[in-house]
Amino acid sequence: MPATATPDVLEKLVSLCKRRGFIFQSSEIYGGTGSVWDYGPLGVELKKNLKDRWWHAMVRARDDIEGLDAAILMHPRVWEASGHVATFTDPLVDCKNCKKRFRADDPKIKGTPGTPDAQCPVCGMKGTLSEPRMFNLMFKTYMGPVEDSASIVYLRPETAQGIYVNFLNVQQSTRQKVPFGIAQIGKAFRNEITPGNFIFRTREFEQMEMQFFVEPGTDDEHFAYWKEQRMRWHHAIGLSPDRLRYKAHEQLAHYARAAFDIEFDFGGTLGFQEIEGIHNRTDFDLGRHQEYSGKKLEYFDQPRNKRYVPFVIETSVGADRVTLAALVNAYREEEVAGEEEGRTVLGLHPSIAPIKAAVFALTKKEGQPEMAHRIANELRPQFPVDYDETGSIGKRYRRQDEVGTPFCITVDSDSTRDGTVTVRDRDTLKQDRIAADALSGYLRERLQG
Ligand code: ATP
Repeated sequence: MPATATPDVLEKLVSLCKRRGFIFQSSEIYGGTGSVWDYGPLGVELKKNLKDRWWHAMVRARDDIEGLDAAILMHPRVWEASGHVATFTDPLVDCKNCKKRFRADDPKIKGTPGTPDAQCPVCGMKGTLSEPRMFNLMFKTYMGPVEDSASIVYLRPETAQGIYVNFLNVQQSTRQKVPFGIAQIGKAFRNEITPGNFIFRTREFEQMEMQFFVEPGTDDEHFAYWKEQRMRWHHAIGLSPDRLRYKAHEQLAHYARAAFDIEFDFGGTLGFQEIEGIHNRTDFDLGRHQEYSGKKLEYFDQPRNKRYVPFVIETSVGADRVTLAALVNAYREEEVAGEEEGRTVLGLHPSIAPIKAAVFALTKKEGQPEMAHRIANELRPQFPVDYDETGSIGKRYRRQDEVGTPFCITVDSDSTRDGTVTVRDRDTLKQDRIAADALSGYLRERLQG
């Protein structure tokens, strides 16, 4: 993927995320686990806010989509039916010299792997790259006490199959009529050959997937609808429209009739990369599960006395990848008029910011800390708020800017006399003087998604 003119902020973000408690390397005290990450106090809030906004838009705000939380471990036949056992593979090559492994289609490899002119992108040796061999990306484990081939189960590489096998359970229990959808958020695992770029590509990640079941023949119009809806969602969570684009798949997967990615410009050498896929999967999945399970997965359209296997329009977005997009999109460094030191700001959309407001007392005198504590305690049941009394007020503002807190509330000497406080806006730096009693309504109005 070609580099874009947007600056590369990834390295700075990785350090900010660790320093401020967004994201830590997994098992760091043991030297870390390759490409596995833990979400700290602020990161878990950010990712949860994104998942909540997705769940709200896809499930709660609609009457034609139902929620589901299927198990990670599924019957092994599921993955035969889905095609993952046979085809969820990437071509892998090894360097016989430096022992590094690559995807055979890695653009850094010069020449054809397996031939004398192919050059290893790490050690630079020629003729040391093996012929490509296919490598299945599913993690295997054993169910029960016996580790034999009969007890192999897989960690799911996508959440979608849990939806397909529950299609009739959900349809019949909710009495939904086609067209309708099923949505779920959950972990997925892929033994990626080349994970990396922070939380962009990891071996354990979360997906937010929705499968919309439609009558064959109406699939094109539903596909067009979801393609547009999903782009709107990315705008609504604050990703800049000029960093988002659609990309049509040049090669369609065996099951797909149409497929588009929504790409986000991560900047630097990463450039535009997929954050979400929208696929017309036809009746492939339900058809295969019918075949492999021997159970009918047909919808009965009662008024028309017609039975059919619905087509599926899928929308599939990575919660971690969209968290990274939100962080990259929000990161900026600014000069501040009249100050030597600039500021780092995470301009996160207020609805996804981990802390909504910070409360400060200007001085430790005149009952100011008491009043500030009172305000923080009153707001806390409604919004995540932070109370901070250390350092100069300027330093406290900078600390909140850096983690994306949209509002800072300061109690000063006037506050204890007349009950008003200042509210500073993270982006405009404008300060409003308002009654402390009115804070809850003031914030609520400005924090909505
Ligand atoms: P890629 O081409 O990047 O490997 P994919 O086309 O295999 O992705 P899908 O199977 O369509 O991805 O998965 C849907 C979404 O899940 C992706 O758009 C991405 O946001 C997320 N995703 C997939 N693999 C990973 C991963 N290894 N780490 C983090 N997120 C992932």
